[in-house]
Amino acid sequence: MPLQPSSFAILGAGLMGRLLAVELARQGHRVDIYDAGSPAAENSAATVAAAMLAPLAESAITEPGVVRMGHHALTRWPELLGALSEPVFFQQAGTLIVWHRQDAAEAQRLTRQLEANQHKVPELPALQKLDGAALAQAEPTLAQRFAQGLYLPGEGQLDNRQLLAALVVEMQRLSVHMHWHTPQSPEAFTPGAPGQPDWVLDCRGLGAKGQWPALRGVRGEVVRIYAPDVTLQRPTRLVHPRYPIYIAPKEDHLFVIGATEIESDDLSPASVRSTLELLSAAYAVHPSFAEGRILELATQCRPTLPDNLPAIRQPRPGVLEINGLYRHGFMIAPAMLDVTLEVLNAGQSQLSQRFDLALDLEPAPLPPPSAAAAFA
Ligand SMILES: Cc1cc2nc3c(=O)[nH]c(=O)nc-3n(C[C@H](O)[C@H](O)[C@H](O)COP(=O)(O)OP(=O)(O)OC[C@H]3O[C@@H](n4cnc5c(N)ncnc54)[C@H](O)[C@@H]3O)c2cc1C
Repeated sequence: MPLQPSSFAILGAGLMGRLLAVELARQGHRVDIYDAGSPAAENSAATVAAAMLAPLAESAITEPGVVRMGHHALTRWPELLGALSEPVFFQQAGTLIVWHRQDAAEAQRLTRQLEANQHKVPELPALQKLDGAALAQAEPTLAQRFAQGLYLPGEGQLDNRQLLAALVVEMQRLSVHMHWHTPQSPEAFTPGAPGQPDWVLDCRGLGAKGQWPALRGVRGEVVRIYAPDVTLQRPTRLVHPRYPIYIAPKEDHLFVIGATEIESDDLSPASVRSTLELLSAAYAVHPSFAEGRILELATQCRPTLPDNLPAIRQPRPGVLEINGLYRHGFMIAPAMLDVTLEVLNAGQSQLSQRFDLALDLEPAPLPPPSAAAAFA
């Protein structure tokens, strides 16, 4: 049963908030979105992210349900991006994994782990082992330094900043009421009461710590480099005991190199140690980074729940909280979006079972749809 015309207050205009605002406005609902920051999303994890969509690569550190969400994203992102009026860079040229000779044992362990995980999520394309010749064909400049590699077909990436900007344009086009520099909390609303929204969707990431006391930040530092002499075609990961970095090539010779993963809410600037590690590892993968120009050194914290898994819950009627996207926000956002829309429409979600996604919808009689005169 389609959701009756309703009014929504969305708290947080990072990745999840903007996606939900656009989809709900497109369905004809009134949407107000509030953010503590500006349209540039300077306080969001989404702005700093590399926005890789790499379910098999990430299966090394997450659960099969999240991996299945990542697989879902690879078909949903092209649909979601195709419906936007502004173009967003999206690529599905696979992920490359390489290692130095001395790290071969670690690479073998990772290969076995990825093969086992691929059997658990058989819809993912199988990884391919590349010898020197195959590696030279995939990324010619890497073959001089690496004797072998792994190729994970079908994995993707997008340009996070283009996406965030395109979603603002879309919100404008769909008459979403945008309230920038306006911090909010769910306590400020009484959903369903006169003059109040029917629904409050809390998508504030780390800003929702008051509602999720166990929510924590996992600090990540990222370097953005302009390097016209570097010719990598696809996200490339380095297996390394201390600096397991990735290099994500965006458009116009821009490379996002990341990311540290430090158990801390510290949002202070990148440390010298992290910067040295990221840049040394990138230089070891491709020496032409030496002549690149550092555009930005950025830090943000990933919003993370104790089990490192995402969650959706309904603490009271008319309030939904969506959080814990951790290091997989872009990879799982389409799944989180589709599950949230199912919950709003039907009070439950079939899809969530496929993704083993924790839904806590008690005590949850759906609020009656308002008269929503504005939409009549
Ligand atoms: C270094 C790094 C690298 C990453 N790389 C990847 C990757 O390659 N692939 C991937 O899939 N994911 C990646 N991620 C993860 C991804 O960025 C996050 O999972 C995702 O951004 C979380 O989305 P969100 O909407 O929940 O939170 P956010 O994007 O953080 O947005 C939260 C928003 O809430 C707002 N807010 C906070 N408090 C309030 C308040 N009181 N009132 C109103 N608004 C408020 C903030 O201003 C912010 O705009 C990375 C993250 C980091 C930090």
